[in-house]
Amino acid sequence: MIPVCEPTLLGREAEYVGDCLKTNWISSGGKYIGLFEEAFAGFCGAKYCVSCSSGTAALHLALAALEIGPGDEVIIPSFAMIAVGNAVIYTGATPRFVDSSRETWTMDPGQVAAAVGSRTRAIIAMHTYGHPVDMDPLLDIGESRGIAIIEDSAEAHGAEYKGRRCGSIGLMSAFSFYGNKILTTGEGGAVTTSDAALAARLRSLKNHCFGAPRFLHEDVGFNYRMTNIQAAIGLAQTETAEKLVEMRRQNAASYNRLLAGTPGVETPPQAPWAKSSYWMYGVVLGPEFPAGRDQAMAELRRRGIGTRPFFHPLHLQPAYSKLKAGRPDASGAMPVAEELGAGGLYLPSSSHLDSVQIKTVADAIREVAAQ
Ligand SMILES: *Cc1c(COP(=O)(O)O)cnc(C)c1O
Repeated sequence: MIPVCEPTLLGREAEYVGDCLKTNWISSGGKYIGLFEEAFAGFCGAKYCVSCSSGTAALHLALAALEIGPGDEVIIPSFAMIAVGNAVIYTGATPRFVDSSRETWTMDPGQVAAAVGSRTRAIIAMHTYGHPVDMDPLLDIGESRGIAIIEDSAEAHGAEYKGRRCGSIGLMSAFSFYGNKILTTGEGGAVTTSDAALAARLRSLKNHCFGAPRFLHEDVGFNYRMTNIQAAIGLAQTETAEKLVEMRRQNAASYNRLLAGTPGVETPPQAPWAKSSYWMYGVVLGPEFPAGRDQAMAELRRRGIGTRPFFHPLHLQPAYSKLKAGRPDASGAMPVAEELGAGGLYLPSSSHLDSVQIKTVADAIREVAAQ
């Protein structure tokens, strides 16, 4: 079986974790937290990195730091991972969905402009499968309307927009270090920002807003702390980050070459202003492909190849149609989210895939395509 995605541990992970155990620093104090945060901020080109327990927590912290809550709206893409919508709902605010650009599979800035209203407080720009959102139009909207632009870079470690790394473009950026992300800490997350006051606010919120004197709390915070052990893995991962991203890009180039010209197979986009990090190598099956997406996934599975379907659009999620308050506005068709959600799948994408495995996967797709 070629699994859809596994962590790639190339560096000093075991040594640093062993150090945590030997020195008894296994909880959320210890030197690796600070070392990891500094290294990861540097990798992104941001001034500060605040580690936390997951990418979902990172999104929630970013919204909480802006005091977003009931009555507020946050614009998000419908073609997105569920955590993006959930984080908005945790705050009591209402997600407002927009469709994606058919060319880049990421949120369409024209639709964002049309969706901005008097209650809009923030826009979450989710960089999809490693491809950055077209940020300049969003930054313009943010500036002219006083709306916060939050990146979701959970899938875009090392990706670039016009030469700037994802994680350094918006007011804040959320990252995940879940096991299938390009850099992993097992479970984990972070918010990057270059705003010192926001960084301090995020640090306070992730640790119950412990004040001075201790046990006097000015605000309701969370326990969203990362452990020293997770940060130890994160530091080792960050030391090899440039290499891990390069491996992802090489794998995508190999897939692109081997799948070129396969009828009905659309390979992942890369806009002229973008440098994708190809978190997951996604393909969209069109009408000329002889099998439907689900059937193609079953055929690949039979050949020992793990795949996953693309996101199911958020505006069609049963969980959201049940909400009593803050129910997202699901009116208006989102044809791109629906088309991608129905026709897309991603192929094995681990950084350490070898050329034989990539060829096996591409051959299997061509075989199914020829049936
Ligand atoms: C993985 C992911 C998240 C959630 O991260 P967790 O660490 O699993 O909570 C959020 N947003 C996007 C775009 C993701 O891909």
